[in-house]
Amino acid sequence: MKKAEIVKLREALKVCITDIPDPPRHGLVVKISYSGICHSDILQLKDEVDFGFEKKRYSANPKYKLPISPGHEMSGIVHSIGSDLQNNGKLKIGDRVAIYPWRGCGSCRFCDQGNCNFCSVRDTCYGFGIPGGYASHVVVPEARSAILVPDAVPLDVACMLPCAGVTTYNAVSHVKPVIETLLKFQDKASLLIVGAGGLGLWCLQIAQAVLPSNTKIIIADISEEKLATAKLRGCDDTVLWSRDCVEDDVVAATKEKGLRGGFDAVVDLVNSKITSERAFNCLLTSGIQVMVGLFGGAANFSLPMIALDSKRIQGIHVGSLNQLKELMELVAEKKLTPPPLQYFDLDEVNDAIDLVKQGKIRGRAILKFGV
Ligand SMILES: [Zn+2]
Ligand SMILES: [Zn+2]
Repeated sequence: MKKAEIVKLREALKVCITDIPDPPRHGLVVKISYSGICHSDILQLKDEVDFGFEKKRYSANPKYKLPISPGHEMSGIVHSIGSDLQNNGKLKIGDRVAIYPWRGCGSCRFCDQGNCNFCSVRDTCYGFGIPGGYASHVVVPEARSAILVPDAVPLDVACMLPCAGVTTYNAVSHVKPVIETLLKFQDKASLLIVGAGGLGLWCLQIAQAVLPSNTKIIIADISEEKLATAKLRGCDDTVLWSRDCVEDDVVAATKEKGLRGGFDAVVDLVNSKITSERAFNCLLTSGIQVMVGLFGGAANFSLPMIALDSKRIQGIHVGSLNQLKELMELVAEKKLTPPPLQYFDLDEVNDAIDLVKQGKIRGRAILKFGV
């Protein structure tokens, strides 16, 4: 890690663990139990996002404040609640909660749908506009952001649901109606998941729980080790997309793993130029390609083929508050298995970030604060 990044992160931590704040009137303070380390945190520390035709800096956004503790994947215990929330019967001290990380204005057309991540009025997220979960305590300004965690869901699993979990739940929710429609006219359907890391393993679990059982699920990745884990977690087959492969060969090998020479649906959790173009070339007529990853770059597609093959291109950015509540119930009911977890103490955060950057974490890295 570069020196500037270490300084930035350590400064942020220093600020955020000194005092336990009082709760705001309509909000609460949560004692953090677990905090996930996400690739968005790495982009934040790099202070650069590749939008394909231009690069943007987080620090150029006036709503982005430094120093700040990163972290938007949080679960914990309610430590204190604001005066207006006391005795309302909904939340009480000691409750186990996960925190929906996007904080909208609460009244625009996006917030009304629970999609605070699209709010153009406020546009803040824990770890970006307001202090996040790389800290022992976090202020939650609005109680609606705190979701009760059922007893059946461990808090280390719960911390991943507001980002990795709900994002893949949203992606699978877009795939589901397409596959259900296709299955009225064919006996089997196929889904390709691109990426077998933490997100890919969540996507696999959720797809297995939500999609019709006659959906064949294949996972592609550049890592044989990650594909082996995906296989153990029950995907029907895997395909290696090694970095030095010949493009036509890997497309042919991938199509062969599908049904009828391709896939009815693709969830691309990487969404780079290479993966998105490759996925598009493996997508069948009337199929859906869900683009999730924020790897960066721009892609070339045949525009006539989108029209002629009636292909659907769907972008996904995380998921809504309501979807998070649905997912919490699904995880409790179906007892979904989380990706492998690698735990770190707060003072190991810089090492953890280095490992995430280098792709050396199998599954997800999370900070553990104690329950
Ligand atoms: Zn995240
Ligand atoms: Zn709003």
